[in-house]
Amino acid sequence: MDTLNQRLRNLPSVDELLKTETVQKWQAQYPRTLIVKAVRDGLDNIRSEIIKSQHSNLSIGNITETAYKLLIKSTTYNLRPVINATGTVIHTNLGRAPLSQRSVEHIMTIAQGYSNLEYDLAGGMRGKRYSHIKNIIKDITGAEDAIVVNNNAAAVLLCLSTLAAGRQTIVSRGELVEIGGSFRIPDILAQSGSILREVGTTNKTRISDYEFAINDNTGLFLKVHKSNFKTIGFTEEVPIEELVELSKKYTIPVMYDLGSGCFIDLKPYGIHTEPTVQEIIANNVDVITFSGDKLTGGPQGGIIAGKTQYISRIQSHPLTRALRVDKFTLAALESTLMEYSDIEDALKNIPVLNMLFTSAKILKERAVKIKKLIKKGQPNLDIEVISDSSMAGGGTLPEQEFPTFVVSIKPSNLSVNAFETALRLSDLAIIARIKDDRIILDARTILDNQIKITADSVIKIINQGGYK
Ligand SMILES: *Cc1c(COP(=O)(O)O)cnc(C)c1O
Repeated sequence: MDTLNQRLRNLPSVDELLKTETVQKWQAQYPRTLIVKAVRDGLDNIRSEIIKSQHSNLSIGNITETAYKLLIKSTTYNLRPVINATGTVIHTNLGRAPLSQRSVEHIMTIAQGYSNLEYDLAGGMRGKRYSHIKNIIKDITGAEDAIVVNNNAAAVLLCLSTLAAGRQTIVSRGELVEIGGSFRIPDILAQSGSILREVGTTNKTRISDYEFAINDNTGLFLKVHKSNFKTIGFTEEVPIEELVELSKKYTIPVMYDLGSGCFIDLKPYGIHTEPTVQEIIANNVDVITFSGDKLTGGPQGGIIAGKTQYISRIQSHPLTRALRVDKFTLAALESTLMEYSDIEDALKNIPVLNMLFTSAKILKERAVKIKKLIKKGQPNLDIEVISDSSMAGGGTLPEQEFPTFVVSIKPSNLSVNAFETALRLSDLAIIARIKDDRIILDARTILDNQIKITADSVIKIINQGGYK
C-alpha cells in the first residue's frame, strides 16, 4: 500500500492532463480557459477525495472524467427549461406562467433591436414607457387609467406608499394574509410607511367595523383577496360594493388587491369564487392591483388600474422609477393582453388558461399516449392511466379541484424516491409528484411537444436502474 503522500505525489500534473488525447479533443468545442479550470478543479476534487481516503482510483481516465463533468457543468446554463409533470399550472417554483407563442415572438422581436420603448413616433420626441399597455388595460378592464410595475407585491407597496404613507390604512383582520412565503400584508404596509388599522375579527368583519375605525388620519380602505386561504363556517366579510359606498360617504379612497387578475367569467367552467377585474372596476373601486402572471397568464408584473386621479399620483411617486418594468415585460404583457380581444383566442392561446381548462378527453388522450410510448420501451413496467386532480397553483383558486388524468408508475428495479430523483436530474429535468408510493405524471402540464422526451427519459432511467 502506498502512503498518502506517495499517492498524492503520483497524481499527474495539470499540464500532463492537458496533453492527453481526451482533453485535447475537448478543445474543438470548448474554450481553453474553461478546460484548464475544469482539469484543475477535477484534480483538486480527486486530491481531496484521496485525503479523505475515499478514493483509490488514480487513473488518468478517472480524473479526466471528473474534469469533463465539471466542464459540461460550467458550459451549461443554470436557468433552464424543465418539464412540469406536477399538474400545478401556475407553479411558483417552476416559473409560474409559460408565455403564449405570440408573446415569445414579440419579446424576441423587441429584444433583438431598438424599439420605441420611450419614444413617441408620431411626435418625434420622448415618450412614456407605460403608454404601450395603458390603453389595452383600459379597454379590457374599463378602468380610467393603468400602469404596470415589476410584480404585484411591488404594485401593492407602491399604491400604499402613494396613497397612505403616514396615514392609517383600514384592513379587515381576516384579510391580513401571507402570500407566497414572504409577502405579508402587515409587513408591506409597514414598509410603505402607512399605519395598519385592523378591524373586525379573524372570521367576521362587518361594514360597521370599518366605519367605527375612521378618524382624521384615515388614508385608505384596503381589501385583500385571500388567495391561498379560506375561512369557512361562521364567517362574514364585507363585499367590495359596501366598502365602496362607505368610501364615497367619507371621501376616503378604496383599494382592492385582487391577486390573480382574471378577465374571463369562469362560472361556465365551474369556478364561482373569482370575480373578474371588469366587475370590480365597474363597482367603482378607486385602485386595484393584480399579478401579470397568475390568471392573467402573462409575464411577471404588477398591474395597477383605476381612477386617473390616483394612477397619476402613483405614476409620479419616486418608487415607480425603482419598480419600473423593462421592455421584455412590456412586450410580453402587451401581446398577452391582445389575446383577450377574443375570449376563445385567449382560452386557446394563453397557456395558463388553456391548461386549466383542457378537457378531460384531451387529458386522457395525452396520458394514454405517454403510457403507450413508455410501454413500448418497457413492456413489463407497472404503469397505468388513472384519474386524479390537479391544482391551479400560485395561490390561485386554492379550493378548486381540476379533474385530470395521470400516468402512474411503480418501477420494480428502483425505489420511487430514486426514480423521482432521476427524473429531476434528467438532461431535460422532469418534475413529478409522488402519491401512494407511485410516481405521478400529470398530463395537464406536460406540453404536447414534451410527450416523447418524457417517455424516453422514463424508459432510459428504468433501463439504467436510476440516475447515472
Ligand atoms: C399573489 C398575490 C400577491 C403577490 O403577487 P406577486 O405577483 O407574486 O408579487 C399579492 N396579493 C395577492 C392577494 C396575491 O394573491
